[in-house]
Amino acid sequence: MYPDRVVSGMRPTGSMHLGHYHGALKNWIKLQAEQPCLFFVADWHALTTHYDDPSVIERSTWEMLIDWLAAGIDPSQTTLFIQSRVPEHAELHLLLSMATPLGWLERVPTYKDQIENLSTRDLATYGFLGYPLLQAADVLIYRASLVPVGDDQVPHIEMMREIARRFNHLYGKEKGFEEKAEKAVKKLGSKRAKLYSELRTEYQRDGKDDALEQAKAMLDDAQNLSLGDRERLFGYLEGSRKLILVEPQARLTAAGRLPGLDGRKMSKSYGNAIALREDKESVGKKIRTMPTDPARVRRTDAGDPTRCPVWQFHQVYSDAPTQAWVQRGCVSAGIGCIECKQPVIDAIVKEQEPMHERAQQYLDDPSLVRAIVADGNDAARRLAQETMRDVREAMGLAYT
Ligand code: SF4
Repeated sequence: MYPDRVVSGMRPTGSMHLGHYHGALKNWIKLQAEQPCLFFVADWHALTTHYDDPSVIERSTWEMLIDWLAAGIDPSQTTLFIQSRVPEHAELHLLLSMATPLGWLERVPTYKDQIENLSTRDLATYGFLGYPLLQAADVLIYRASLVPVGDDQVPHIEMMREIARRFNHLYGKEKGFEEKAEKAVKKLGSKRAKLYSELRTEYQRDGKDDALEQAKAMLDDAQNLSLGDRERLFGYLEGSRKLILVEPQARLTAAGRLPGLDGRKMSKSYGNAIALREDKESVGKKIRTMPTDPARVRRTDAGDPTRCPVWQFHQVYSDAPTQAWVQRGCVSAGIGCIECKQPVIDAIVKEQEPMHERAQQYLDDPSLVRAIVADGNDAARRLAQETMRDVREAMGLAYT
């Protein structure tokens, strides 16, 4: 099988806030230590909803990249790039669009939601309808095995899988495939070849999924096969097609959600956000003026943490003894709200200190970020070109 890879992108929204950090970036930082990752700025996606106002895209892109680096995305472990600098995404998007039924795009749940939620914009455009397909191209072009997503994005991954399956079915036919696959089976060596054939029969005749998994694991271990033979044997297990595109899996982002200062979703447009690199005086001021349980009008009134957004911050930032102190002190009116908020302020300021430090070098010398991204663009492009060679060949566009 192709090597494991994680791919994820974000629209350039300018500077990031702590909601982005706890909702996505922390997870990216964890993933980069586990597997090869490609993280990209989805600048074309920004145009699907803001095609009439592209003026902020470039500035937002660089601000966002500095925040990623400040948060701890490590360019020595991860490939960071800008989507539009890898034009192969657009080529694959176009080619996939030829065979993608319109109904698949129209039924994506976020399509209807966004049309309703963004009713002030004219989103009856071809680009907006096609954005899940562009997302599919963004992922499939790297043959990604994993895509970190929230619950609402799972249907998009399902669609990517369907698109990859359909593509392999339509274009994975290879002249003399069965003969080539049988020759590749022999290269496994007699014992493994026998086992492969038995497992393939068990899967195809009896539908045994564990036989399929066992056979795949065996192929993963078979070091003596060429990439072409390996893909043939993976495809041969499930039918008579070569696997050109890989079906990615969704990796659900563990719920580490940090709400906004007013308890709603954190968002710059709601005015309830704390920027990733907010200065500490401003952090203190914002937390000290946060709303609390509305029932606690006076210091002597008992409160209920479950009705207070500060408690949600404690759940993200405080250890168990501090949380117990909040619970006891709030319901008994033993502590005041300003007192209760101080550990949250301290924890946020502490969390942000290394981010400020890491960001400083990029603010002092912006060419460092440019260089990191230029390297990332090149690396991403090399991988994208590998896939596109196979895609063009499969679709009769190789012109050799
Ligand atoms: S004591 Fe803490 S949890 Fe209770 S209402 Fe005040 S800020 Fe909220």
